Amino acid sequence: MQPSPESIPPLIAIVKTVSEYCNLRCRYCYYRDLDQGQAYKIMSHAVLSDVISQVLQWDRPKANFVWHGGEPLLATIGFYRVAVKLQERLNSERPRQVSNSIQTNGILLNDEWAEFFAHNKFAVGVSVDGPQQIHDRQRVTRSGKGTYSKVMRGVESLRHARINPGVVCVVHQDNVNEPEAVYEGLLDAGFHYFHFKAMYDYSHGVLTADSISGEQYASFLLRIFRRWATADNAKIEIGNFTSILTGLMGGRPHLCEHAGECTSLITIDWDGRIGPCDAFPKGTFDFGNVRSTGLHQYRQAPDFLKLRAGMTTAQTECQGCEFFKVCAGGCFKYSYNPITEMWGHSAYCSSKKILFKELLEYARTGEVKNVEDQAKQSDLVKLHRTIRTLPVIRS
Ligand code: SF4
Ligand code: SF4
Repeated sequence: MQPSPESIPPLIAIVKTVSEYCNLRCRYCYYRDLDQGQAYKIMSHAVLSDVISQVLQWDRPKANFVWHGGEPLLATIGFYRVAVKLQERLNSERPRQVSNSIQTNGILLNDEWAEFFAHNKFAVGVSVDGPQQIHDRQRVTRSGKGTYSKVMRGVESLRHARINPGVVCVVHQDNVNEPEAVYEGLLDAGFHYFHFKAMYDYSHGVLTADSISGEQYASFLLRIFRRWATADNAKIEIGNFTSILTGLMGGRPHLCEHAGECTSLITIDWDGRIGPCDAFPKGTFDFGNVRSTGLHQYRQAPDFLKLRAGMTTAQTECQGCEFFKVCAGGCFKYSYNPITEMWGHSAYCSSKKILFKELLEYARTGEVKNVEDQAKQSDLVKLHRTIRTLPVIRS
C-alpha cells in the first residue's frame, strides 16, 4: 500500500543564512567564541537559489525551511524577500507544500519584520529563558547588558501583526533549578507556545559547565508538567509534552527527538555546505555542498552512511523498550562524542523514562501522579484540543 502524502515526513532544511554569527553573546552559547570577531558572511543569492530549487525538487510532498543562525535576521529583510520570491517561482513544476519558520533572538524585530512574517505566513520562534531577572543573567549583549526589554519590544511588534510567537527556552545550569519561575514568567509575558531545550554541549568531548544532566532536565520538565497538567491548560502548548502525549496516544509526535526521523533533517550553511541537523557540532559530518555534489546526493555521502550506522549503534539497547514509539533512541546528540567519534546509548535514557512514565500515567488516567493538589485534573478531551503543531519542529 502506498503511504499517504500526509504520512510522508517533510524534508526539513535548516538554513544558516549567516552561519553562526550573532549580535548577542549569551554566556552559555557554544557559538560565543566562534568566528564572532570577524565580519560575517551572508548566504549569496546564487547559493540561496540552489538551496531552494534543490529542496523543492526533493521527492516529498512537503518542504519546511527553517531559517536559523547564529541570528538569522542579520541576513536583512531583503534576503528573505528574495527567498520568498524564489520559493514562489521555483515551486511551479510539481508544487510542494512549503512552510517557513524562523528562530530569532528577537533583538532586531520591528514592525517591518513583523508585517513581512505575517504576510508570508512565517512561524516565528523567539528565544526567551524565563522572566527578566532569569533571562538577563545569561542572554546578554556584547557589553554584557541584559536583553529582555529589547526582545519584548520585538515581541510586541509581532503581536501587533497578529503573530503569537513560540518560545524556545534553553534550560541550563543557571535556570534549571527554577522551573516554576521560568514557566510563570513566560506565561506572565503572554506566551502560549513553549519548547524547552536542554543545554547539552559535548562539542569538546566533555560536557561544558553550563550543560545539564538528564536527571536535571527530567526534574525540570516534570515540575512544569505538574503545573501545566493541573491548571486550565487548554490554551497553553508545551511542545515537549504534547509531542510525547501525542505519541503515547498513538499519533505521530511532531518533535524530531520523539519521531525518530533525524535523517529527514539537514543543515545547509551560508556557503552551501550540507550536514546533519546542527545538534551535531559544525563540520562533524559532511554531506557535500549544494553548489557541487547537490542535495540529491546527500543520502549516498559516506558521512551520511556513517551517521546512520552510528544511530543504529545508539539504538542497540532500545530493543523491547516500551517507549520506543515516542523516543526511538531520543535525540542523537546525547549518544555521540564528537572528539572520540564514539556512539553509545543515550545519556538521557533513564531520566527520559521517568518523564515518559509519568506522562503515560496521565494519558491513561488524566491524573497527575506525585502532585499534592490533585483537585483540578485536566481531562483528555481538553488535552486533545491542545495538541497542535508547534512552530518549531526541531527539538
Ligand atoms: S527510553 Fe531509552 S531505551 Fe527507550 S527508546 Fe529511548 S533511549 Fe531507547
Ligand atoms: S532528534 Fe536531535 S539529532 Fe535528531 S534531528 Fe532532532 S535535534 Fe537533530
